Amino acid sequence: MWRDRKVAVVSYVGPDFEPSPPRRPRRRPLTVALAALVPGALLGWVVYEAVGGSDGGSAGAVGTPVSSRAPASPTASEPTDSGNDDAKQPSPTPATSAPGTSAPAASGPLKGKVIVIDPGHNPGNFQHTAEINRKVNIGTNWKECDTTGTSTNAGYTEAEFTLDVAHRMRTLLQAQGATVKLTQDGDRPYGPCVDERARIGNAAHADAVVSVHADGSAAGNRGFHVILPGSVHAGAADTRPIVAPSRRLGERIAGNFVRVTGSAPSNYIGDGTGLDTRTDLGGLNLSTVPKVFIECGNMRDSKDEALLTSGAWRQKAAQGISEGIVSFLRG
Ligand SMILES: [Zn+2]
Repeated sequence: MWRDRKVAVVSYVGPDFEPSPPRRPRRRPLTVALAALVPGALLGWVVYEAVGGSDGGSAGAVGTPVSSRAPASPTASEPTDSGNDDAKQPSPTPATSAPGTSAPAASGPLKGKVIVIDPGHNPGNFQHTAEINRKVNIGTNWKECDTTGTSTNAGYTEAEFTLDVAHRMRTLLQAQGATVKLTQDGDRPYGPCVDERARIGNAAHADAVVSVHADGSAAGNRGFHVILPGSVHAGAADTRPIVAPSRRLGERIAGNFVRVTGSAPSNYIGDGTGLDTRTDLGGLNLSTVPKVFIECGNMRDSKDEALLTSGAWRQKAAQGISEGIVSFLRG
């Protein structure tokens, strides 16, 4: 997500774009998260078949069932992406939307569960700068409605990436019986604004919400990190009830992401934990249901770029995130 710096890549300036706060002292060994992984493996089988199609990523989807892969050791694996831009969160849009909703699955372990996937940014944001620059209230302050997101040096946009991963996740989770909704599905000209993105999850009474992003940090910065909501109570924002469950969700996702993708946690944010807590993101501040963001990698690093632009890798990313959600929902 790099916080969009719409203009030059330079401005990590404004309130909106602040790079995530530098590391936090506390660190939790990934091992912790790994412990939670076990249950997650079940998605593997379902996924495959299901996935095949959507988006032709570069490489085709799927290689081997993720679930069968050996867990990557938290330490070793190649650090993959990381960049820190965080996400630009969607913003609110009038109530129109209930973007991509999936048909309720007939049955499966997640029957009755509602999962909202928030594909960061929107491919159309680049053509609607005035609209996305409009400020919206996020409780603690005002921020841009939405941002353009980053892209690889070759032009593969973060918005394309997030939508692709979201589609793959939707397929996997629906196969488990979950009701899945997307905050946007390439079905609107821009946005939604971050506040609306949060409201969509709230209105759906989602059991879990995940905002998908990829960072736009300096080359050399690699790996993924999950952004957790910090405690905020100001204006319309009150994350106190969701801080704990969101952390559990984030830990499960981080652990499963490592295991399935083999990617290492960010080498520039989170002190190696793959977790970062923030209080400046509207999409988290305004959420009343468990929610996290995930920066899957750094689009501006060539090694991470190779992963992010691979359909096979995106499939693994989608599976890792989905299995984390499943693990969280199963308690
Ligand atoms: Zn983003």
